[in-house]
Amino acid sequence: MAKLILLAVVFYILYSLVKKQKAVPPPAMREEEMVRCAHCGIHLPRSECILSGGEIFCSDEHRRLHRK
Ligand SMILES: [Zn+2]
Repeated sequence: MAKLILLAVVFYILYSLVKKQKAVPPPAMREEEMVRCAHCGIHLPRSECILSGGEIFCSDEHRRLHRK
């Protein structure tokens, strides 16, 4: 009987560990840095931004408009 309880406890610990891991967002989402468009000020993920002359833009249109 003691063995059964121990087995149940081990399973419970393993189950809570798996549950904890699932609660953590995937690395891609956690590491995605938010940047701000130099023209309109909108926030967007760094992977979607346009870098030009050390400044960040949300679109090619804003990059052009900012130059003027
Ligand atoms: Zn913009």
